Amino acid sequence: MSIVTVAHIRKLFGQKVAVSDVSFEVQAGEVFGLLGPNGAGKTTTIRLILNIFPLDGGRIEVLGGPLNKSTADRVGYMPEERGLYPDMRVLDCLVFLGRLKGLDKATAKQRALGYLERLEIGDQQRTKIGQLSRGMTQKVQVIAAILHQPDLLIIDEPFANLDPINAALVREVILELRDKGKAVIMTSHQMGLVEALCDRIGLINKGKVVLEGKVSEVRRQFASHVLRVSGQGHLEMGLGGVAHVQHLPSGEWDLFLTVETSTQAVLAQLIQQGFILDRFEVALPSLDEIFVRVVKESNSAVA
Ligand code: ATP
Repeated sequence: MSIVTVAHIRKLFGQKVAVSDVSFEVQAGEVFGLLGPNGAGKTTTIRLILNIFPLDGGRIEVLGGPLNKSTADRVGYMPEERGLYPDMRVLDCLVFLGRLKGLDKATAKQRALGYLERLEIGDQQRTKIGQLSRGMTQKVQVIAAILHQPDLLIIDEPFANLDPINAALVREVILELRDKGKAVIMTSHQMGLVEALCDRIGLINKGKVVLEGKVSEVRRQFASHVLRVSGQGHLEMGLGGVAHVQHLPSGEWDLFLTVETSTQAVLAQLIQQGFILDRFEVALPSLDEIFVRVVKESNSAVA
């Protein structure tokens, strides 16, 4: 079931085109990663979905139609910037925010305490928000966004201030929501975490979607462009169809192929040049590598 439909949306700030043409859908029970370089238009897209800004073009449907008061209560949002009340104590603040989203006081308190324990900040329940560390504040913000078990959770940079142990705790509660059939949209610049968490991604550059798909399929789609090779001989000399060669600390080489080259053509050249192969495999590129490549290619296409 489609929870969010974003169709050809557009947003201008004065003369500046922040979002020029972005489309994607997010289904129930999936985590969708909205990726892109700084200034690409991710936060603006999220704010448009949340109806914080009006659209200048295109269409957005959330939970079956335009966002309204009753569907807004089924959405949880964690903004990138801090949005909590610094003078309130952690538990009071969470109960207050839970009640704003329609929970009764007892349920809000019970859930807040449960999540505080799970995220290992149960001992901070009486601390004032303003006295928490950045990572602790972020965990409280995550709890505030999920306390009412929203059908759609939108989180901007959920791991920005978290160490790997706390990032894993937050990841667990997000995956638990997904497994309950909720839809999640997240932004992140940490591609390792995106790979570990997202079912699908949409990569935005300069206000446009330049890549979209399942993480596993996107990685396979780019797989034929990198070959990992080990053996005896020299690889740095010119190989046709190889854009560049990287010698790895392990002693292996990564050959980055041009788009039109086949792996077989490169293998044939290696053998012809007398390179003795121990290993030859198609390397699955990381999301990090794909991100850099797609953004650079889309920038040079625009230039
Ligand atoms: P980052 O990864 O750095 O958070 P982003 O992809 O979230 O970036 P946006 O915040 O959506 O990017 O910004 C997209 C573009 O729109 C940028 O050029 C930004 O300067 C501009 N922009 C965003 N909000 C406003 C605003 N309120 N007024 C004017 N320009 C804005």
